[in-house]
Amino acid sequence: MRSLHAAQIRAIGVLLLIMVVALTIAVHQNTRARAFAELHERGQNTLGLAESSLRGQLARFERLPGLLAEQRVIQSLMLSPRNDDLQMAANLYLRDTANMLGASDIYVMYRDGDTLAASNFDQPHSFVGGNFAFRPYFQDAIAHGAGRFYALGTTSNKRGYYFGTPIDVAGQRRGVLVIKIDVDEIEQAWASDDLRILVTDPEDIIFLSNRADWLFRSIGVLTPDQRARTEATRRYSDAELGVLAYESTQDRQGFRVLRGPGNAVDASEYLVVKSAMTQADWTVQVLLPTRAARLQAVATVGMVLLGLGIVALVGLILWQRRRQLALRLAMEQAAKDDLERRVVERTRQLHDANAALQDEVAERRMAEAQLRKTQSDLVQAGKLAALGQMSAALSHEFNQPLGAARNYAENAQVLLERDRTQEARGNIDRIIGMIDRMTRISRHLRNFARKPNQQLRPVALGEAVVAAQELLGWRLAKQGVALEVDLGPVPPVVTGGPVRLQQVLVNLISNAIDAVEDGPDRRLHLSATTDGALVRVILRDHGPGVPDSVQARIFDPFFSTKQVGKGLGLGLSISYNIVRDFGGRLSMRNHPEGGAEFTIQLQAAAQSAKAAE
Ligand code: ADP
Repeated sequence: MRSLHAAQIRAIGVLLLIMVVALTIAVHQNTRARAFAELHERGQNTLGLAESSLRGQLARFERLPGLLAEQRVIQSLMLSPRNDDLQMAANLYLRDTANMLGASDIYVMYRDGDTLAASNFDQPHSFVGGNFAFRPYFQDAIAHGAGRFYALGTTSNKRGYYFGTPIDVAGQRRGVLVIKIDVDEIEQAWASDDLRILVTDPEDIIFLSNRADWLFRSIGVLTPDQRARTEATRRYSDAELGVLAYESTQDRQGFRVLRGPGNAVDASEYLVVKSAMTQADWTVQVLLPTRAARLQAVATVGMVLLGLGIVALVGLILWQRRRQLALRLAMEQAAKDDLERRVVERTRQLHDANAALQDEVAERRMAEAQLRKTQSDLVQAGKLAALGQMSAALSHEFNQPLGAARNYAENAQVLLERDRTQEARGNIDRIIGMIDRMTRISRHLRNFARKPNQQLRPVALGEAVVAAQELLGWRLAKQGVALEVDLGPVPPVVTGGPVRLQQVLVNLISNAIDAVEDGPDRRLHLSATTDGALVRVILRDHGPGVPDSVQARIFDPFFSTKQVGKGLGLGLSISYNIVRDFGGRLSMRNHPEGGAEFTIQLQAAAQSAKAAE
């Protein structure tokens, strides 16, 4: 998910806020306008009703004054205004008529404004004798033929509507007849809990109202002119004129609103619907409280805001969820990538290690091959060295008897020539003995050179020892080494191969000769002991022995401490393997009294068995 910068978020926030504010204002205005329109309609209906009831009331009395002014008793009175009888007759007539018509008062004024007769002549506040020339209805009636006025009665202190009409007698305007009707009834018909129905005069003073508290109050402060005009007609008699601290304004939708003091919420505010009644010089107004409409607008705004809030909250939750999901996915992806990277790296390392291992294996193989080659070379060299030694041994073994045999033969010739046959025979016997010896040696050599028979069989230890002795006799003699053999009363017979056993003995004895040749004690002891099925052949010398540090290695192939050309390090290794092939063991220890001691441990074979060689 694309991450937003703080500045962008702030800008979006401000934009959203502006949109919300604009929406709030729009919703508020719209709701208010609609509620006001409904209110206005209701006001119009009420106004229509109020107006028609007023008109009806007025219409009822519209033509009556003219009719009454024509009456004889009234006409007569105008002709004889000081006539008491006529006055009384007029009084009675007017009282009866007023009662009959339901008018508040009916009275007759002479042209100077003096009241000659009145329906309330017998009441405490009788108009008779009063002068009402100051009233517009009188003046208008005299001047224009009809006068209409509404006012608070100066005598009765009761509000009323006055219909004035001139009384003309024989073409002369002699007086004015007035019918005053009560307006209280009209007000009572308008009773309502919430709305106000008002009738205001041209100076905006409330004259009729369905609620008494606002009576005789002007909407807005009166100008001195207005005040003067009102005072001149004494419309409100001596009543105290108040001022309503209300402000009349027109709002943007064209609604006229009357707003009272107080703060914006609590202020008593009315929607004004009004209509002018020209014939009575009145303005009928219906005032409808706007509180409910305003509350409705506020409530609607509240609901819209709540809705927006819920939508925003849900949006926020969804956004948060998505963000968390995206984060988790990103983390999982990162972990996966990391894992994959590590796998790749590990694979590469393994691959490298594998390659290195293969290189090493190849190197080892090469080294092994090299070693094998070297080994076979050495074996070859060993064979050649053995051949050399053997040649030396053979030439020594054979030359000496051959030389001696020749001497004996020559001697025998001389002796035969001198007929000393007996002595000559002795020489020939010696020659035969030497030939026998050479034959024996040659036989051993043949045996030694022959590929050993792999099969195991009983071998007479004594014969193997004698054969080894014969092979090494010349060396023993040359080095002055004495081989002491003690195989016990019955030399044991062991399981093995005669040639190989002989080879082992030759090897061990050769080493022993090497060990003692420079020493003071040149004795070698070869002994054999039988312990049940085990036969131990022990060869001990009086040489330096084997240092502890190399003891473990002397049976290894090619291990030799001897100078180059002399030792190959194969003797003990070959011997060890041969003895093992026989099912025995070759071991070595340094004798406590000095010198090395080699033990060939073999398995005993049947006593009667003989070497079949
Ligand atoms: P080589 O005789 O050719 O050295 P061998 O395998 O026969 O090889 O002998 C290994 C080594 O064992 C000799 O070099 C020598 O150091 C030691 N060794 C063998 N026999 C004796 C012995 N009788 N006394 C002292 N050391 C011996």
